[in-house]
Amino acid sequence: MTDRIRLLPDNIANQIAAGEVVQRPASVVKELLENAIDAEATHIKLIVKDGGKSLIHVIDNGIGMSPNDARMSFERHATSKIKHADDLFRIRTMGFRGEALASIAAVAQVEMKTRLRDADLGTLLRIEGSELITQEEVICPEGTSIAVKNLFFNVPARRKFLKSNAVEMQHIFQEFYRVALAHPSIHFELHHNQVEVYNLHPGKLSRRIVDLFGKQYRQLLIPCKEETPTVKIHGYIGTPQQAKKTRGEQFFFVNKRFIKHGYLHHAVMQAYADTLLEGTYPFYCLFIDIDPEQVDVNVHPTKTEVKFEDERTLYAFMLTAVQRALATHHIKPSLDFEI
Ligand code: ADP
Ligand code: MG
Repeated sequence: MTDRIRLLPDNIANQIAAGEVVQRPASVVKELLENAIDAEATHIKLIVKDGGKSLIHVIDNGIGMSPNDARMSFERHATSKIKHADDLFRIRTMGFRGEALASIAAVAQVEMKTRLRDADLGTLLRIEGSELITQEEVICPEGTSIAVKNLFFNVPARRKFLKSNAVEMQHIFQEFYRVALAHPSIHFELHHNQVEVYNLHPGKLSRRIVDLFGKQYRQLLIPCKEETPTVKIHGYIGTPQQAKKTRGEQFFFVNKRFIKHGYLHHAVMQAYADTLLEGTYPFYCLFIDIDPEQVDVNVHPTKTEVKFEDERTLYAFMLTAVQRALATHHIKPSLDFEI
């Protein structure tokens, strides 16, 4: 009898794991933007070429990394964000799995430049398909710059399944909206094929919404705010008249993390009730602030699905919050708020 089982080499294990985290260019955008936010950046620039297929480049002015950390950051399950199992239940950072960079580097050509705030020199690191090509000292600004080139260059089957540049770009916009809405106090730029698409200056949420979706939103936003000792809902909802046939402008955030939640979406729709034309969806950008121990974000690797401890109470609370906001709007139809 011969033994047949052996451990997969790291590069293959990483490529398999990458399938969970990196589905398309937009997944890379999400992970890199989240890392920049976790690094306390106040200015984040995203440069994209060809719908992200040739280049996704994120430059931040965050805390940067030491040369050792820069190298470690590409190891699987390497993270500075959690230490103990208990930490999983009080996560305050966007990332925590330590999988993103390892996964991205398994299926792309990556170039990272990073410098700690108090260091004279930074580190330049090149890695392709999990293989370290070079690491050297470099003069660079403080913060981190990560360029991800030729996604899936080594997985032709995955590359073939990418959609057109335009479609991939739509997915990137969605990720960008989510992050930009959740962090109106951060300056974001987005450039696509050398064109500046967004230059979002720091400010209030209402201004961020207008900057992203257009001036017409100025008249359409209804503030929504409701609080109990354990949970707070705040943000803006759109007027029923402005509701669109297409989805894509509905945003829930739990502790600043974008989530999809069919049940809570239902609560919002329920609140609008018959004010909506059939088959239309209102704009909403609603933040739920809740004790992290009441939420389990560890459900899915891409983390857009979360579980709440008490979903029914939250449903009722959401329904009331939106109903009240709408009621206020009917009493005072011409809303006057500053942006
Ligand atoms: P996670 O975010 O889940 O910890 P990642 O693979 O995304 O895992 O990143 C691994 C580690 O690399 C992070 O924990 C962090 O310490 C470091 N890192 C990644 N991106 C940045 C960045 N832009 N600035 C500073 N540190 C970073
Ligand atoms: Mg991360």
